[in-house]
Amino acid sequence: MSKDLFQILCLLWAGIAVVTFIVLLFVKAPYGRHVKSGWGPQISNKVGWVLMELPSFACILYFTLGYTHSTYAYLLLTLWLLHYANRTFVFPFRIRTRGKKMPVVIVLSAVLFNLINAGLNGFFLSFFERYTLDDFSTWNFSLGIVLFVAGAFANLKSDQILIGLRKPDEVGYKIPKGFLFQYVSCPNHLGELVQWGGFALMAWNCPAATFFLWTAANLIPRALDHHKWYRTHFENYPSGRKAILPGVL
Ligand code: NDP
Repeated sequence: MSKDLFQILCLLWAGIAVVTFIVLLFVKAPYGRHVKSGWGPQISNKVGWVLMELPSFACILYFTLGYTHSTYAYLLLTLWLLHYANRTFVFPFRIRTRGKKMPVVIVLSAVLFNLINAGLNGFFLSFFERYTLDDFSTWNFSLGIVLFVAGAFANLKSDQILIGLRKPDEVGYKIPKGFLFQYVSCPNHLGELVQWGGFALMAWNCPAATFFLWTAANLIPRALDHHKWYRTHFENYPSGRKAILPGVL
Protein backbone atom coordinates (compact mmCIF):
# COMPACT_ATOMS: atom_id res chain seq x y z
CA MET A 1 0.00 0.00 0.00
CA SER A 2 1.31 3.50 -0.82
CA LYS A 3 1.71 6.10 1.91
CA ASP A 4 -0.73 8.42 0.12
CA LEU A 5 -3.47 5.77 0.10
CA PHE A 6 -2.75 5.05 3.76
CA GLN A 7 -3.14 8.75 4.66
CA ILE A 8 -6.47 8.86 2.79
CA LEU A 9 -7.70 5.86 4.82
CA CYS A 10 -6.69 7.66 8.02
CA LEU A 11 -8.59 10.77 6.96
CA LEU A 12 -11.70 8.71 6.19
CA TRP A 13 -11.41 7.03 9.61
CA ALA A 14 -10.99 10.46 11.24
CA GLY A 15 -14.19 11.60 9.47
CA ILE A 16 -16.06 8.64 11.01
CA ALA A 17 -14.73 9.74 14.43
CA VAL A 18 -16.34 13.16 13.94
CA VAL A 19 -19.69 11.56 13.02
CA THR A 20 -19.40 9.22 16.05
CA PHE A 21 -18.73 12.20 18.32
CA ILE A 22 -21.93 13.90 17.14
CA VAL A 23 -23.96 10.70 17.54
CA LEU A 24 -22.60 10.11 21.06
CA LEU A 25 -23.67 13.61 22.08
CA PHE A 26 -27.25 12.36 21.65
CA VAL A 27 -26.98 8.62 22.41
CA LYS A 28 -25.49 7.42 25.73
CA ALA A 29 -23.13 4.47 25.27
CA PRO A 30 -25.02 1.81 27.32
CA TYR A 31 -22.37 0.39 29.65
CA GLY A 32 -21.31 1.07 33.23
CA ARG A 33 -23.85 3.35 34.96
CA HIS A 34 -25.70 3.91 31.66
CA VAL A 35 -26.34 0.21 30.95
CA LYS A 36 -29.93 -0.60 29.95
CA SER A 37 -31.96 -3.24 28.17
CA GLY A 38 -32.98 -2.87 24.53
CA TRP A 39 -29.46 -3.18 23.11
CA GLY A 40 -29.60 -6.93 22.43
CA PRO A 41 -27.81 -9.77 24.27
CA GLN A 42 -25.49 -8.90 27.14
CA ILE A 43 -22.37 -10.51 28.63
CA SER A 44 -20.42 -10.07 31.87
CA ASN A 45 -18.82 -6.62 31.82
CA LYS A 46 -15.47 -8.03 33.00
CA VAL A 47 -15.37 -10.49 30.09
CA GLY A 48 -16.53 -7.63 27.87
CA TRP A 49 -13.60 -5.41 28.93
CA VAL A 50 -11.06 -8.17 28.20
CA LEU A 51 -12.59 -8.92 24.78
CA MET A 52 -12.82 -5.22 23.89
CA GLU A 53 -9.23 -4.34 24.74
CA LEU A 54 -7.37 -7.54 23.80
CA PRO A 55 -7.37 -6.81 20.01
CA SER A 56 -5.49 -3.56 20.54
CA PHE A 57 -2.84 -5.23 22.71
CA ALA A 58 -2.50 -8.26 20.41
CA CYS A 59 -2.37 -6.21 17.22
CA ILE A 60 0.39 -3.88 18.47
CA LEU A 61 2.29 -6.85 19.93
CA TYR A 62 2.15 -8.50 16.49
CA PHE A 63 3.63 -5.41 14.80
CA THR A 64 6.21 -4.96 17.59
CA LEU A 65 7.52 -8.52 17.40
CA GLY A 66 7.14 -9.05 13.69
CA TYR A 67 8.94 -6.13 12.08
CA THR A 68 12.15 -4.15 12.49
CA HIS A 69 11.86 -0.72 14.09
CA SER A 70 13.82 2.32 15.12
CA THR A 71 14.43 2.86 18.85
CA TYR A 72 11.92 5.72 18.72
CA ALA A 73 9.18 3.50 17.24
CA TYR A 74 9.94 0.82 19.83
CA LEU A 75 9.35 3.36 22.59
CA LEU A 76 5.96 4.32 21.10
CA LEU A 77 4.93 0.69 20.68
CA THR A 78 6.03 -0.12 24.24
CA LEU A 79 4.00 2.76 25.70
CA TRP A 80 0.95 1.52 23.79
CA LEU A 81 1.49 -2.04 25.04
CA LEU A 82 1.87 -0.91 28.66
CA HIS A 83 -1.41 1.02 28.53
CA TYR A 84 -3.33 -1.84 26.94
CA ALA A 85 -1.74 -4.49 29.18
CA ASN A 86 -3.31 -2.67 32.12
CA ARG A 87 -6.64 -2.11 30.37
CA THR A 88 -6.89 -5.76 29.19
CA PHE A 89 -5.34 -7.85 31.95
CA VAL A 90 -5.54 -5.72 35.13
CA PHE A 91 -8.40 -3.19 35.02
CA PRO A 92 -11.23 -5.73 34.37
CA PHE A 93 -10.15 -7.81 37.39
CA ARG A 94 -9.91 -4.81 39.73
CA ILE A 95 -13.34 -3.26 39.12
CA ARG A 96 -15.97 -3.96 41.77
CA THR A 97 -19.01 -4.51 39.58
CA ARG A 98 -20.70 -7.62 40.91
CA GLY A 99 -22.99 -9.25 38.31
CA LYS A 100 -22.87 -6.26 35.97
CA LYS A 101 -23.35 -6.82 32.25
CA MET A 102 -22.76 -4.95 29.01
CA PRO A 103 -24.34 -5.33 25.56
CA VAL A 104 -22.49 -7.52 23.04
CA VAL A 105 -22.98 -4.76 20.47
CA ILE A 106 -20.81 -2.42 22.60
CA VAL A 107 -18.11 -5.10 22.80
CA LEU A 108 -18.20 -5.64 19.03
CA SER A 109 -18.03 -1.94 18.22
CA ALA A 110 -15.09 -1.51 20.62
CA VAL A 111 -13.31 -4.50 19.02
CA LEU A 112 -13.69 -2.83 15.61
CA PHE A 113 -12.54 0.55 16.99
CA ASN A 114 -9.49 -1.01 18.66
CA LEU A 115 -8.52 -3.22 15.70
CA ILE A 116 -8.62 -0.35 13.22
CA ASN A 117 -6.79 2.13 15.46
CA ALA A 118 -4.12 -0.35 16.55
CA GLY A 119 -3.86 -1.68 12.99
CA LEU A 120 -3.31 1.79 11.48
CA ASN A 121 -0.78 2.80 14.16
CA GLY A 122 1.09 -0.52 14.10
CA PHE A 123 1.19 -0.58 10.28
CA PHE A 124 2.52 2.97 10.08
CA LEU A 125 5.20 2.35 12.72
CA SER A 126 6.23 -0.85 10.92
CA PHE A 127 6.32 0.26 7.29
CA PHE A 128 6.29 4.06 6.93
CA GLU A 129 8.04 5.64 9.93
CA ARG A 130 11.43 7.27 9.36
CA TYR A 131 12.45 8.15 12.92
CA THR A 132 16.09 8.70 13.86
CA LEU A 133 17.74 9.23 17.26
CA ASP A 134 17.50 13.00 16.57
CA ASP A 135 13.74 12.73 17.13
CA PHE A 136 14.44 12.31 20.84
CA SER A 137 15.69 15.93 20.89
CA THR A 138 12.59 17.50 19.32
CA TRP A 139 10.08 19.73 21.17
CA ASN A 140 7.21 17.42 20.29
CA PHE A 141 8.95 14.44 21.88
CA SER A 142 9.72 16.39 25.10
CA LEU A 143 6.20 17.78 25.44
CA GLY A 144 4.58 14.54 24.28
CA ILE A 145 6.32 12.27 26.77
CA VAL A 146 5.50 14.63 29.65
CA LEU A 147 1.83 14.72 28.62
CA PHE A 148 1.72 10.95 28.13
CA VAL A 149 3.16 10.20 31.57
CA ALA A 150 1.08 12.88 33.34
CA GLY A 151 -2.09 11.73 31.55
CA ALA A 152 -1.44 8.07 32.33
CA PHE A 153 -0.86 8.93 35.99
CA ALA A 154 -4.12 10.93 36.18
CA ASN A 155 -6.01 8.12 34.44
CA LEU A 156 -4.65 5.34 36.67
CA LYS A 157 -5.02 7.28 39.91
CA SER A 158 -8.56 8.40 39.09
CA ASP A 159 -9.61 4.87 38.13
CA GLN A 160 -8.10 3.64 41.38
CA ILE A 161 -10.08 6.21 43.42
CA LEU A 162 -13.31 5.32 41.60
CA ILE A 163 -12.81 1.58 42.08
CA GLY A 164 -12.02 2.17 45.76
CA LEU A 165 -15.34 3.96 46.35
CA ARG A 166 -17.04 0.56 46.67
CA LYS A 167 -16.16 -2.05 49.26
CA PRO A 168 -15.68 -5.48 47.60
CA ASP A 169 -19.34 -6.51 47.95
CA GLU A 170 -20.93 -3.09 47.51
CA VAL A 171 -22.93 -1.89 44.52
CA GLY A 172 -24.16 1.65 43.87
CA TYR A 173 -22.42 4.98 43.46
CA LYS A 174 -20.85 7.65 45.71
CA ILE A 175 -19.54 11.15 45.06
CA PRO A 176 -15.80 10.88 44.31
CA LYS A 177 -13.62 13.38 46.14
CA GLY A 178 -9.99 14.55 46.19
CA PHE A 179 -7.25 14.60 43.54
CA LEU A 180 -8.59 16.05 40.22
CA PHE A 181 -12.17 15.22 41.23
CA GLN A 182 -12.32 18.62 42.88
CA TYR A 183 -12.21 20.13 39.35
CA VAL A 184 -13.93 17.59 37.10
CA SER A 185 -16.29 14.63 37.35
CA CYS A 186 -14.18 12.43 35.06
CA PRO A 187 -10.44 12.92 35.57
CA ASN A 188 -9.91 9.35 34.34
CA HIS A 189 -11.27 10.39 30.95
CA LEU A 190 -9.34 13.68 31.03
CA GLY A 191 -6.14 11.76 31.85
CA GLU A 192 -6.68 9.33 28.99
CA LEU A 193 -7.29 12.21 26.58
CA VAL A 194 -4.07 13.99 27.67
CA GLN A 195 -2.18 10.70 27.46
CA TRP A 196 -3.13 10.02 23.81
CA GLY A 197 -2.64 13.69 22.96
CA GLY A 198 0.93 13.24 24.22
CA PHE A 199 1.28 10.06 22.17
CA ALA A 200 0.11 11.87 19.02
CA LEU A 201 2.66 14.63 19.64
CA MET A 202 5.47 12.12 20.04
CA ALA A 203 4.42 10.01 17.07
CA TRP A 204 3.65 13.09 14.90
CA ASN A 205 1.82 11.09 12.28
CA CYS A 206 -1.66 10.70 10.84
CA PRO A 207 -2.82 7.46 12.58
CA ALA A 208 -1.77 8.69 16.04
CA ALA A 209 -3.59 12.01 15.48
CA THR A 210 -6.63 10.04 14.28
CA PHE A 211 -6.54 7.85 17.39
CA PHE A 212 -6.45 10.97 19.56
CA LEU A 213 -9.52 12.26 17.71
CA TRP A 214 -11.30 8.93 18.31
CA THR A 215 -10.40 9.03 22.01
CA ALA A 216 -11.93 12.50 22.26
CA ALA A 217 -14.99 11.36 20.28
CA ASN A 218 -15.60 8.58 22.82
CA LEU A 219 -14.59 10.20 26.07
CA ILE A 220 -15.91 13.77 25.86
CA PRO A 221 -19.56 12.68 25.37
CA ARG A 222 -19.12 9.94 28.03
CA ALA A 223 -17.80 12.47 30.53
CA LEU A 224 -20.70 14.83 29.73
CA ASP A 225 -23.16 11.94 30.30
CA HIS A 226 -21.48 10.97 33.61
CA HIS A 227 -21.50 14.59 34.78
CA LYS A 228 -25.20 15.00 33.99
CA TRP A 229 -25.90 11.68 35.74
CA TYR A 230 -24.09 12.82 38.92
CA ARG A 231 -26.04 16.08 38.95
CA THR A 232 -29.39 14.33 38.65
CA HIS A 233 -28.56 11.60 41.20
CA PHE A 234 -26.86 13.65 43.96
CA GLU A 235 -28.54 16.84 45.21
CA ASN A 236 -25.35 17.85 47.03
CA TYR A 237 -23.09 17.36 44.00
CA PRO A 238 -20.35 20.06 44.02
CA SER A 239 -21.69 22.90 41.86
CA GLY A 240 -18.30 24.19 40.64
CA ARG A 241 -17.18 20.83 39.29
CA LYS A 242 -17.06 20.56 35.48
CA ALA A 243 -17.37 17.38 33.37
CA ILE A 244 -13.91 16.93 31.85
CA LEU A 245 -12.06 20.22 31.26
CA PRO A 246 -11.40 22.14 34.51
CA GLY A 247 -13.26 25.47 34.51
CA VAL A 248 -14.45 25.03 30.91
CA LEU A 249 -16.61 21.99 30.07
P1 NDP B 1 -16.16 4.98 34.78
O1 NDP B 1 -15.59 6.18 35.44
O2 NDP B 1 -17.57 5.00 34.34
O3 NDP B 1 -15.99 3.68 35.74
C1 NDP B 1 -14.76 3.21 36.18
C2 NDP B 1 -15.02 2.19 37.29
O4 NDP B 1 -15.34 2.84 38.52
C3 NDP B 1 -16.22 1.26 37.01
O5 NDP B 1 -15.98 0.03 37.62
C4 NDP B 1 -17.38 1.98 37.72
O6 NDP B 1 -18.44 1.11 38.08
C5 NDP B 1 -16.70 2.56 38.94
N1 NDP B 1 -17.25 3.87 39.33
C6 NDP B 1 -17.26 4.98 38.58
N2 NDP B 1 -17.82 6.00 39.25
C7 NDP B 1 -18.20 5.52 40.45
C8 NDP B 1 -18.85 6.10 41.59
N3 NDP B 1 -19.18 7.40 41.59
N4 NDP B 1 -19.10 5.31 42.65
C9 NDP B 1 -18.73 4.00 42.64
N5 NDP B 1 -18.10 3.40 41.60
C10 NDP B 1 -17.84 4.15 40.50
O7 NDP B 1 -15.16 4.64 33.56
P2 NDP B 1 -15.49 4.10 32.09
O8 NDP B 1 -16.21 2.81 32.19
O9 NDP B 1 -16.05 5.19 31.26
O10 NDP B 1 -13.98 3.87 31.57
C11 NDP B 1 -13.11 3.02 32.25
C12 NDP B 1 -11.69 3.30 31.75
O11 NDP B 1 -11.59 3.03 30.34
C13 NDP B 1 -11.28 4.77 31.95
O12 NDP B 1 -9.93 4.82 32.35
C14 NDP B 1 -11.45 5.37 30.56
O13 NDP B 1 -10.55 6.46 30.36
C15 NDP B 1 -11.17 4.19 29.65
N6 NDP B 1 -11.92 4.29 28.39
C16 NDP B 1 -11.23 4.62 27.23
C17 NDP B 1 -11.90 4.80 26.04
C18 NDP B 1 -11.16 5.20 24.81
O14 NDP B 1 -11.78 5.52 23.80
N7 NDP B 1 -9.82 5.22 24.81
C19 NDP B 1 -13.37 4.61 25.96
C20 NDP B 1 -13.99 4.30 27.23
C21 NDP B 1 -13.28 4.15 28.38
P3 NDP B 1 -19.68 0.84 37.05
O15 NDP B 1 -19.07 0.12 35.86
O16 NDP B 1 -20.59 0.00 37.87
O17 NDP B 1 -20.25 2.17 36.65
